[in-house]
Amino acid sequence: MASAIIVAAGSGLRMKSARPKQYLELAGLPVLTRTLMVFDDHPGIENIFLVVSPGEIEFCREKILSKARWEKEIILVPGGKERQDSVYEGLKAAGGYMEDDDIILIHDGVRPLVAQELITACIACAEKSGACIPGIPASDTLKQVNSDGMIVSTVSRENIWFAQTPQAFSLKRIREGFEYAFANRLSLTDDAAVLEMYGLPVRMIPGNRNNIKITTPEDLHIAAALLENIEK
Ligand code: C5P
Repeated sequence: MASAIIVAAGSGLRMKSARPKQYLELAGLPVLTRTLMVFDDHPGIENIFLVVSPGEIEFCREKILSKARWEKEIILVPGGKERQDSVYEGLKAAGGYMEDDDIILIHDGVRPLVAQELITACIACAEKSGACIPGIPASDTLKQVNSDGMIVSTVSRENIWFAQTPQAFSLKRIREGFEYAFANRLSLTDDAAVLEMYGLPVRMIPGNRNNIKITTPEDLHIAAALLENIEK
């Protein structure tokens, strides 16, 4: 069986709104409620650990969890300063409910358009290989630019992928990776990087172009259009 950690303890500064982006509405429901609904509906997910800012636990109960009827218990966990700290809090909470060999999925609360099929594929791949993440091969030309805005070089896009979530791992393996990262003061932007630093293999599978991370106000408009298309 697999469980999921949904991280939603960010402050969302790039959104320039009073509320963090995970709490903004997307077609009548908060982004975070929509993300949780996908995992709640998935038959392969047992427990859901929702990591939010320590000061927003009550707000989440009243404004996010009250918006839907849940099949599963959603365990609220206070998050930390950086995403990495929030994930680690989620892993510690999950440890009380799961066996070491179970699969844990780590997903951004701001990716509400994640498809059921992608969750299924990530679980299956992690069961086989121990660590698996979805991604999209780069299609634009990549440029390295210096601090004056001048191009330094054109980077080959061959074998370059953009990482998405959910990232799926055996619980023991990712917890050990995080312990290694903290002990060595490594600061990382996704969870797979923790295992890469630790020298463990991580498999990449094709993600889904709809599975965007809502970061800016434009992303919210794009997500609304994508959702309309998905629901058609
Ligand atoms: O900041 P970034 O865009 O990488 O955030 C990705 C996800 O991580 C978001 O869902 C955000 O709420 C979450 N996050 C978190 N704790 C933090 C920072 C970000 O749970 N301290």
